[in-house]
Amino acid sequence: MKIAVMGMGVAGSYLMARLKNSEHEVVGYERMPIERHDSICAWGTIKEELTNFCKKTGRNFDDFLIHDGKQMHVKMNDDVKFDIGLKGLCTYNKLGLIKDFIKDSKIIYGEAPRLEELEKEYDMIVDCTGFNRSYLPKMEQDFYLPTYEYKVEYENGVPYDDFYIEPFPGMSGYFWYFPLGDNYAHIGAGDYNKNHIKATAAFLKKHGGKVVATKGRPINMHDFKAYEKAIEKHYSVYAKVFNFVRAKIHNDFNFLKALPDFIAIFRYMKKNEDRFGMHIKIGDLLKVAKA
Ligand SMILES: Cc1cc2nc3c(=O)[nH]c(=O)nc-3n(C[C@H](O)[C@H](O)[C@H](O)COP(=O)(O)OP(=O)(O)OC[C@H]3O[C@@H](n4cnc5c(N)ncnc54)[C@H](O)[C@@H]3O)c2cc1C
Repeated sequence: MKIAVMGMGVAGSYLMARLKNSEHEVVGYERMPIERHDSICAWGTIKEELTNFCKKTGRNFDDFLIHDGKQMHVKMNDDVKFDIGLKGLCTYNKLGLIKDFIKDSKIIYGEAPRLEELEKEYDMIVDCTGFNRSYLPKMEQDFYLPTYEYKVEYENGVPYDDFYIEPFPGMSGYFWYFPLGDNYAHIGAGDYNKNHIKATAAFLKKHGGKVVATKGRPINMHDFKAYEKAIEKHYSVYAKVFNFVRAKIHNDFNFLKALPDFIAIFRYMKKNEDRFGMHIKIGDLLKVAKA
């Protein structure tokens, strides 16, 4: 088969690596020119998950690891501060891994052909264009958070030794500080109520640092009801998380009403600590829920 993989983000590049030695003829497309090909992301991930993905392509994730997290410092808007012990949450050289996944493949940079043109040439077209969904129908009930992010260089020492987050009132979003080794960090925020740029600018003003890159783009958050019908069992907990966050954002949150969902979310996260890369304690979740 002749396959076009559209978009060289982490999904498209991983697919290219998996299809590398298949019997298919595979061509990757990236709309950005090679010198501006980037990964708009804070580069945080879960070590075990990425280790497994890398293994499947004959790569060692440790070659791309930047910061192996120990504690995530949390500051709630009611000034409650606490640390969450981490077990796998880390940052990695995401762009480096993407480029490595595709280094031996045919990639056409700086082009985003129309679907009709692609259909003439390829048997299969895979849309890996992320938020853009350039070749897929638009989501009917889309829900997304606007984000803003800087990559910052700290010549005189970093302000935090590990991950740091500040959830916004009503859980409408959060500010993040993701360490990138000795001198760098990604700082950014996403907020339904659009305070993300203000929060990022305030952190920069307070802690200094030189901005070396500015990135901003919305993040999708899906209403999992539609997925639930098809794969109800697997995704049912995410629908609970969505309802929880939505009630918070819309000021329609009642803890007693949300208690069954809260317990279900806690039990799911506790059981899947390795998947979330952190130690899950009910006390920590309560602080987050109450803020
Ligand atoms: C500010 C910010 C911070 C984030 N931080 C994290 C984090 O720390 N950890 C995490 O796991 N997730 C994070 N995310 C989410 C993460 O970036 C996405 O989930 C992830 O990038 C999705 O990967 P993808 O390969 O599907 O799409 P993308 O990474 O968006 O890649 C899509 C690619 O397709 C290209 N493209 C678009 N249209 C076309 C077209 N028509 N033809 C050809 N190419 C096209 C784009 O240029 C891009 O290279 C963050 C998102 C944002 C916005």
